[in-house]
Amino acid sequence: MNIVVIGSGYVGLVTGVCLSSIGHHVICVDNNKKKIQQLKAGQVPIYEPGLEELMRACTKKKRLKFTDSIKEACQQSTVIFLALPTPPKPNGDADLTYIENAAREIALHMNSYKLIVEKSTVPAETGNRIHRTIVLNLPRKYKRGDRVLLDFDVASNPEFLKEGSAVDDFMNPDRIVLGVESKKAEKILREIFKPLKTKILVTNTASSEMIKHASNSFLATKISFINAVAQICDRVGADVLKVAEGMGFDQRIGRQFLDAGIGYGGSCFPKDVNAFIHLAEKNGYDFGLLKEVRRINDLQWASFVHLAEEKLWNLKEKNIGIWGLAFKPNTDDMRHAPSVDIIARLKEEGARVKAYDPKAMANAVSIFKDICLCDDPYKVAQDADALLLLTEWPEFKEVDFVQVRDAMRQAVIFDGRNMLDAAKLKKLGFEYFGIGRGRL
Ligand code: NAD
Repeated sequence: MNIVVIGSGYVGLVTGVCLSSIGHHVICVDNNKKKIQQLKAGQVPIYEPGLEELMRACTKKKRLKFTDSIKEACQQSTVIFLALPTPPKPNGDADLTYIENAAREIALHMNSYKLIVEKSTVPAETGNRIHRTIVLNLPRKYKRGDRVLLDFDVASNPEFLKEGSAVDDFMNPDRIVLGVESKKAEKILREIFKPLKTKILVTNTASSEMIKHASNSFLATKISFINAVAQICDRVGADVLKVAEGMGFDQRIGRQFLDAGIGYGGSCFPKDVNAFIHLAEKNGYDFGLLKEVRRINDLQWASFVHLAEEKLWNLKEKNIGIWGLAFKPNTDDMRHAPSVDIIARLKEEGARVKAYDPKAMANAVSIFKDICLCDDPYKVAQDADALLLLTEWPEFKEVDFVQVRDAMRQAVIFDGRNMLDAAKLKKLGFEYFGIGRGRL
């Protein structure tokens, strides 16, 4: 199958590379010329485990190409995946300008049947809008009166990959959702995903768009639920780790996404929860539950800083070490990472901040102007009055805590992800504070 993927970011590049690796001919498009140059040189501009090796293998087999021209790519292909940004507008609604612009450009260069597939996360009804944009912008030669003479379809195939395990998630998905309006579109999409052995759910475009928004919002709800439970655990002397374990054994609940911490971040959950609230509002429904999910999430990082302030007495002129900046482990992505808000608040309070992240340092340089970025966790600990663990990178479990303790001015650790062994740290003489750990 000849496939184009427009947008070569976290989703687009993984989609393009993986589709190529299962046998398709893929052209990845991006309007960032520098990114395209890097990709042509075999370099992956993001950190995603396994992606670079797979990309090189596909390029070698001549099944993967890169270009900055939508026109050139679309004219050579039948199926066009849109993996473009859908960022939030100031009012929380999804900004669909990138999608509209791409749809217009595709229309202008259509030369045969095309199947346009939404991979981006978009509100329900976006498929209809793409369809209308294409009809409005098709060259005159393809129209007679209000009749369209060139056949095309718009479909939805939401992406459920997780940054940090994106290649594996794409290749071994829990399910594939196909939102289609014609048998032809369904047949093509089934053919594309045939090599991936998993459940395929076929529905209409609006239901498929809703599945993605509802799934992300439900996961965010689970996180906020356990974070609210953690707040009460702290007050009544319960341990949220045990509470989550006990809840998780119930198969109706499940243990996943019951990790209390400093809240969800990243480019998806905050944006998608907002967009879903807004979509509901536009359609006359007040989704109060999701507003509460958002409020609890915003409280979570703020109460973590408050805990640090309470235990450290004053934050002013304190040396604070930060372990982990990315919004989650195994990625360099810092979009809406809780670390950004936490560090800003610490700076406002007059603390001196040093930080380290295994992969996000290049992105951190462009975000933080006035903190010291170190190249290992021990340098961060040097003379620190406290360490704040913000991202659960496995390497933080492996550090030599005796060396860390001896380097610090005060051996105090705030574990924003409940990942460290509290008993071991206490034995070594640390003061340890987790999230919702009660009497620990
Ligand atoms: P991203 O910002 O990493 O990538 C988007 C890419 O599109 C960028 O490389 C950008 O340069 C390119 N682009 C912008 N305008 C363009 C244009 N006119 N022509 C060609 N390229 C253009 O975004 P992402 O994280 O890959 O997310 C893309 C979509 O997928 C969003 O809707 C997001 O919500 C959704 N999504 C993301 C994830 C995730 O984990 N990141 C998971 C599932 C779904």
